[in-house]
Amino acid sequence: MTSGNPPWYEIDENGQIMVLEVPSRLKSHPEVIRRGLEPTDPWKVGVVYSTSMLKEPLYYIKILDTDTEEAAIFQQLSRQVDTRNHTIPGELTPPETGHPLLITPAMSDFSALLIEGIEYMHDLRITHMDICPGNVLVADPQIDRRYSGVEPGKVYLIDFGSSLQLPLGPGSQHAITLPPSQFRPENGITCFDPYSWDVYCAALTMQQTLKTCYRNDPPRIACLYADWLKGKERGCKAVCHCRPTARRARQVLTGVLWLVRAWEQVKNVLYILKSSLSPPS
Ligand SMILES: [Zn+2]
Repeated sequence: MTSGNPPWYEIDENGQIMVLEVPSRLKSHPEVIRRGLEPTDPWKVGVVYSTSMLKEPLYYIKILDTDTEEAAIFQQLSRQVDTRNHTIPGELTPPETGHPLLITPAMSDFSALLIEGIEYMHDLRITHMDICPGNVLVADPQIDRRYSGVEPGKVYLIDFGSSLQLPLGPGSQHAITLPPSQFRPENGITCFDPYSWDVYCAALTMQQTLKTCYRNDPPRIACLYADWLKGKERGCKAVCHCRPTARRARQVLTGVLWLVRAWEQVKNVLYILKSSLSPPS
């Protein structure tokens, strides 16, 4: 382990790899400690660990191999604010803090944080109007140092250039003419309930991110949720009921998250059992 590159293992007194144990080197990494993260579950033994599934938000921590270009490529892609850029939001730990780690929120948590942010705005009768992958960021360590109050790993919406303050709240506001935005509605629709438009754009953002993160094998339940959120727009002129409000979406997601985690936990146990039968190469 002289290079410092993964896999990192805990070894017992007989020289055997302890597949269930999180390497002490990871637990004592300065950035893991500074962020108060507690890696508990191996996802790829020696390389990827997650924080506890019972504690939100859930994070994945990947120990990067410095012999690969992964860190440099991730850094370059995550700097691009472009609607075509669907790099999973995440944080690369600064080099001065030790071996580089990539910390990413779980997709389900990313969705929950995004919906929660939209619900908060809607409670204040503000609509973003241009939610898209390029306008959703996760706070990285560099920003943390410059702006006190920015929480590492938290999902932030940016670019309020098209945002609106509205006289009526969700469920009362009628459709308005849409301002310019990265996403456009289907079927040439030009008017939209602005609260419903934010939820629609959040659904498209989730769908694109899922496609990028999981390529051909996205979690079925996450796809179903994003489809439900997107709904089928009928071109409502008054209050739109084609999709849930942000509040309802957040409430349902809480239930979905429980199901996703239960399933992920089962998969994790199966993986650990498999790993314990054949030591990882
Ligand atoms: Zn509608």
